[in-house]
Amino acid sequence: AKSTPSRKPVGYQDAIVQELRLHLELAHCLPRAIELQEFALYFQPIVNTTELDEPIQHYEALIRWDHPIKGVIPPDHFIEIAEKSGDIIAIGYWVIHEVCRCLSQPSVPQNVGVSINLSPVQFKEEMLVQNIAKIIKSYGISTNRITIEITESSAMQDNQLTKEMFSEFHAEGFKLSMDDFGTGYSSLSYLLNFHFDIIKIDKSFIDNTLVDVQYEIIAQTVVKLAHDLKLTVICEGIETDEQYKMVSDWQADMIQGYLISRPKLWSEFY
Ligand code: C2E
Ligand code: CA
Ligand code: CA
Ligand code: CA
Repeated sequence: AKSTPSRKPVGYQDAIVQELRLHLELAHCLPRAIELQEFALYFQPIVNTTELDEPIQHYEALIRWDHPIKGVIPPDHFIEIAEKSGDIIAIGYWVIHEVCRCLSQPSVPQNVGVSINLSPVQFKEEMLVQNIAKIIKSYGISTNRITIEITESSAMQDNQLTKEMFSEFHAEGFKLSMDDFGTGYSSLSYLLNFHFDIIKIDKSFIDNTLVDVQYEIIAQTVVKLAHDLKLTVICEGIETDEQYKMVSDWQADMIQGYLISRPKLWSEFY
């Protein structure tokens, strides 16, 4: 027979070729983008579940690439590329400087804090914690205003080194947050193994609970365990009043999501 069973439809191949081309193009442009500082930092409020009207005291910093031709490129399109190329190291430092620049503006109250996403690739850098602490102190900002968000990942399998890094962060005064809880496999064991201060329950988990009641039982158990471990619980991706009511019932401490605010430029807040 002349059939070619393994051949995929042409449109499918086109899509792969196109994606690969975009990937290569972005990878090629990244070093220049870093040099020209073509990035913008957006900030999304994280607020207490029971005090939605209070002035905002905490934000998560979220990067975008302001490409001169392609326009705004979201982080999901370039962070992974930057991790593979190693450019994430330079980008990571740009983010820290930018957060400090924003926090040190005179109109910003001293109790305002920011969470920064850290890539597991950055863990491998020597003196990472000391370098970050030094930058933050050089702006006259207290490290207790900064939370480091870490996604559970393969990097965390390197138990001993990661644990050392965690205690260094704590010794310098930072807080540590486990990002994207509920998307991995061994979330609960990470929670018991590593000393986090905060856990962020992922949007996908919140979304699932409204479809499947089983998720809600798990979520309530997780919140209770987290509280027993003295962790602060943040629920991510809250878009509706219904979701807000649900996570309030779980007694989640804080929420983040479009219901409160989309990520915005710092200048829109201060
Ligand atoms: P993440 O850390 O889980 O950040 C939360 C993401 O959810 C953000 O997407 C945010 O805009 C989005 N989000 C927040 N509330 C809602 C909501 O109510 N509905 C919906 N649909 N989405 C919501 P964003 O900004 O596109 O960032 C995507 C990911 O890129 C982040 O996920 C984080 O993993 C990574 N990222 C962002 N900034 C940085 C950075 O400076 N460094 C590193 N290494 N990674 C970053
Ligand atoms: Ca995050
Ligand atoms: Ca997250
Ligand atoms: Ca995420």
